Amino acid sequence: MIEKFKKLNQSVYKGKRAPHKPLLILLALARFQQTKKQYIPYETVDSELRELLIDFGPLRKRYQPDLPFFHLQHDNLWEIKGHTPEDAEYLKSLSKPERKYFLENNIMGGFPDDIYTDLINNQNEISGTAEYLLNTHFPESYHEDILSAIGLTLDKKESRKRNPKFRTDTLVAYEYKCAICGFSSLLNRKYVGLDAAHIKWFQAGGPDNINNGILLCVLHHKLFDMGLITIDDSFDLRVSENAHGTDFFDSMVLKFNGQKLRNPIRKSYYPKNEYLDWHISEVFHGPMREK
Ligand SMILES: [Zn+2]
Repeated sequence: MIEKFKKLNQSVYKGKRAPHKPLLILLALARFQQTKKQYIPYETVDSELRELLIDFGPLRKRYQPDLPFFHLQHDNLWEIKGHTPEDAEYLKSLSKPERKYFLENNIMGGFPDDIYTDLINNQNEISGTAEYLLNTHFPESYHEDILSAIGLTLDKKESRKRNPKFRTDTLVAYEYKCAICGFSSLLNRKYVGLDAAHIKWFQAGGPDNINNGILLCVLHHKLFDMGLITIDDSFDLRVSENAHGTDFFDSMVLKFNGQKLRNPIRKSYYPKNEYLDWHISEVFHGPMREK
């Protein structure tokens, strides 16, 4: 990772969470990965960082993406610039952000030359830096959601790109409900506790598309990934004969054995059999209970 970002090692400031700067940097890293451009317009930050703050930051009366956009400069990790000498002078004179001015004059922000050059020369710094920020500021359960919201790909061994639409496509395809139990929950406008699950794991080369996806609540996602349940070629849920539990297990898991999953809204969205077969042979800890 780029050492300079270690300055942002405080996830709490005066007892309050401080995710603004890390989220701005994560967003900028994602845009850099996609476009290789040094600067992004304030307008983009204003809308996209606001969404990130709403979804992943603490609840606040107002959300102010202009604050980190301006103040991150003072950490020498960011710079902002306009398009004329007057802009330059005005921006230099500011002691606090001027959102309206930023918007009206298409003010841009981005990494300073030294960091930009490091990123251009060594693009796997993106992953290291992003992982550092995620680990320092957010619990693990946030990481995938943040990465998919900004469309950032971490290059583990492979450098396959994540499809930023995978989660949204899967939510739409299954009408925002767990395909097994129908669970859905919203916090304000954000779906919480619902995952776009890969049938064939992304880590095993499973693609990030709807034919390898299924929308599951967190409980069923976990059980699916751990091989306690699977889906057969008739699109019925199957529970392992080796799985057992309490009454709640019966009502949340066993009662769905042999039941059809919720259909996606289009026939073309059904999971492909090759991925379901992969899950049965590589993940599921069978044998299947009879229907
Ligand atoms: Zn469920």
